Amino acid sequence: MAILETQELTYTYSVGTPFEKTAVDHVSLKIEEGEMIGVMGHTGSGKSTLIQHFNGLLKPTSGKVLLDGKDIWADKDKIRDVRFKVGLVFQYPEYQIFEETVYKDIAFGPKNMGLDEAEIKRRVYETAHDIGLSEELLERSPFELSGGQKRRVAIAGVMAMEPRVLILDEPTAGLDPAGRDKILDHIKSYHERTKNTILIVSHSMEDIATFADRILVMSKAKLFCCDETVKVFARADEISRIGLDVPQITRVFGELKRRGLDFGKEVYTVGYA
Ligand code: ADP
Repeated sequence: MAILETQELTYTYSVGTPFEKTAVDHVSLKIEEGEMIGVMGHTGSGKSTLIQHFNGLLKPTSGKVLLDGKDIWADKDKIRDVRFKVGLVFQYPEYQIFEETVYKDIAFGPKNMGLDEAEIKRRVYETAHDIGLSEELLERSPFELSGGQKRRVAIAGVMAMEPRVLILDEPTAGLDPAGRDKILDHIKSYHERTKNTILIVSHSMEDIATFADRILVMSKAKLFCCDETVKVFARADEISRIGLDVPQITRVFGELKRRGLDFGKEVYTVGYA
């Protein structure tokens, strides 16, 4: 059974006003436990609106979101549990840091879940390790850290809740290439340790090529496709026509090859066409 599923999910902003806008239009998809999914689509295609449905931040105008086969809105009182099971890291999450030490900031979510001190400590140390924050940083003020380190603290805060599904919206936005690689590598380490499902929204095809098992592409509020990484990149020429640029296609294919993903001669031809 899929861990996460949408059935004909539709969301319309400002219904009944001149600003009415359908941002997600009859989207049906299934995500399996343990998958690493890349979410792509041009600005305004509905990515943020879609992912905010996965942890119940937005309620569908029509259609359903299912977690472990159960409609997350079947019991409104249980929506808090959904938010612990599906963790969402917004863009530029470092702006939400507020605690006086890195430890306290990462511990904030687990504390809210009502866990005991020993369990909180285990989670803080493990996620700090996954995300590449040394132990000596834990007692420092997060505000003294570099931009990339602050970003990692904020991501660790959500990871420490050990959500079964972790969703990150543009986790590498605004970072230099070294910072970008580091964050992606650390997210991959977390995935290897926990085997939890991860969705990453990214504008960078190159980044997506390094981690995604499958890619979900949104276009004009609709699901354009949701398929294996190699199959989606095989349609790269088609994807570029819906508004995504493909500037680093050579490097994308290089990355896929490095991962041993065989896309075959035929696909090569299509990709470069
Ligand atoms: P993406 O994340 O792919 O950039 P969004 O989900 O943010 O796309 O937006 C999808 C569409 O919904 C866009 O046309 C956007 O202008 C519109 N939209 C987003 N948020 C709101 C809002 N709060 N009120 C009205 N329209 C919105």
